[in-house]
Amino acid sequence: MREQALQRLREVFGYSQFRGQQSDIIDQVAQGGDALVLMPTGGGKSLCYQIPGLLRSGLTVVVSPLIALMDDQVATLNELGLRAAALNSTLDEQAQREIADSMRRGELEFLYLAPERLVKPRTLAFLQSLEIALFAIDEAHCVSQWGHDFRPEYLQLGVLAEQFPGVPRIALTATADERTRQEMIQRLKLEQARCFVSGFDRPNIFYRIVPKDRPRQQLQQFLAQHRGNAGIVYCMSRKKVEDTAQWLSEQGWPALPYHAGLSAELRSYHQKRFLNEEGLIMVATIAFGMGIDKSNVRFVAHLDLPKSVEAYYQETGRAGRDGLPADAWMAYGLQDVLMLNQIMANSEGDERHKRIERHKLDAMLALCELTSCRRQTLLGYFDETLAEPCGHCDNCLEPVSTWDGSEAARMALSTAYRSGQRYGVGHLIDILLGRDNDKIRSAGHQHLSTYGIGKQLSEADWRSVFRQLIARGLMDIDLDGYGGLRLNDSCRPLLRGEQGLALRRDPSRSAPLPGRSSD
Ligand code: ADP
Ligand code: ZN
Repeated sequence: MREQALQRLREVFGYSQFRGQQSDIIDQVAQGGDALVLMPTGGGKSLCYQIPGLLRSGLTVVVSPLIALMDDQVATLNELGLRAAALNSTLDEQAQREIADSMRRGELEFLYLAPERLVKPRTLAFLQSLEIALFAIDEAHCVSQWGHDFRPEYLQLGVLAEQFPGVPRIALTATADERTRQEMIQRLKLEQARCFVSGFDRPNIFYRIVPKDRPRQQLQQFLAQHRGNAGIVYCMSRKKVEDTAQWLSEQGWPALPYHAGLSAELRSYHQKRFLNEEGLIMVATIAFGMGIDKSNVRFVAHLDLPKSVEAYYQETGRAGRDGLPADAWMAYGLQDVLMLNQIMANSEGDERHKRIERHKLDAMLALCELTSCRRQTLLGYFDETLAEPCGHCDNCLEPVSTWDGSEAARMALSTAYRSGQRYGVGHLIDILLGRDNDKIRSAGHQHLSTYGIGKQLSEADWRSVFRQLIARGLMDIDLDGYGGLRLNDSCRPLLRGEQGLALRRDPSRSAPLPGRSSD
């Protein structure tokens, strides 16, 4: 079997060798076993079902969530001389009938379709009448209700196990935290599947996370190292995508917007340009990316904080798929945290769901505020250990200096406490800096004992303090959506003076903060 697989790899695909675990995976599936494949983006997942599809007789059915993705794959296979087609809603009746006919005649080798199409009783009955080589479920993490790509239709794919008991199934994804893994096994009924987990390290990606200061200028500085390179700039909202793309264009950068609010034609036009032209910058929401197969994306920049470490990993993973050096750069600030909290507070879903989302956001924040190697923590999140600091991230290269923020933290916490634990950062800072305004006066906050006690720090310094207090879980943001800050039980030892607090010194601050430096 392995010999035959290698032969197909060389003759059909023109590659000389298998990468990583490809050979083992292909062997498992070609012999009729199920497989769950967790492999980073760019790792080579497609061959893991395409080659078994060629080795087994019958039709290989590939479930894929996006039409654009299917069309790309089908085009690639056709170019290689393989008989592949995609069944989707963009085809007219006639074209659909032709595909069905060629399947009936046993002429088709690969059929791509969306999950909602596959689980229709008519489709299933039709497939029952054919010889099926295997089922491949791409982007299988879409079955996870807690993930950001959740597709309800994926939940029904379990029927394949019941209706096609003898047909091997392979599920593939680049997302692989333990929870998602368990959900895939359970929901897709892959209890018998062999699990293949490949390394998540992307050694050619350089990670840098900076505190947001003047984001446009910061972005521009970052882009200056990437003139002529293709890259993606992620923003949270459609409006910000539009504004940023326009601003970059005005500054002379070749930037295009992409978000779900644009017409389908414009989206696909921009996507095609990004794939085919050199050196374009795609400014996008997370709507852009799944399945984008452009190997020479040299950078991924985030102007807003992703909701989770998985999202961050997946989005940054679109850089450097060709293995050459690439940059993952992000600017994040307190405002991001407040905004994400607000989105979560207003989102539908039960308490349990919200709690999980909060934990995910907390892990993302912790990664941002980290003073040690980013890669070690990132990989640790996927249960992978890196024995030594990587030497190829901002923190490894420019060790972070910290300062003793215990006193500042106590001032911040008691200001929140004394003002009733319902005010947002801006007002708390006004109190600490002893500012005079209507809101202060009407609340009588000029009489608080902490009024004006924080003048030795600047407004930006205080923002950094609050940001880190929240990121470390010492303060909570009210879920009512107004951004009021509350104390959290875990801040007690600090308040009682039993514990100190070392804070990260933001690199962009020019004026040094007071306090003992520990670097
Ligand atoms: P994924 O789906 O895991 O993101 P792909 O299947 O799209 O990755 O593969 C990424 C790139 O690597 C593609 O251009 C593919 O042709 C190439 N590739 C995959 N396997 C091999 C291999 N064994 N040798 C050389 N190139 C490979
Ligand atoms: Zn590192």
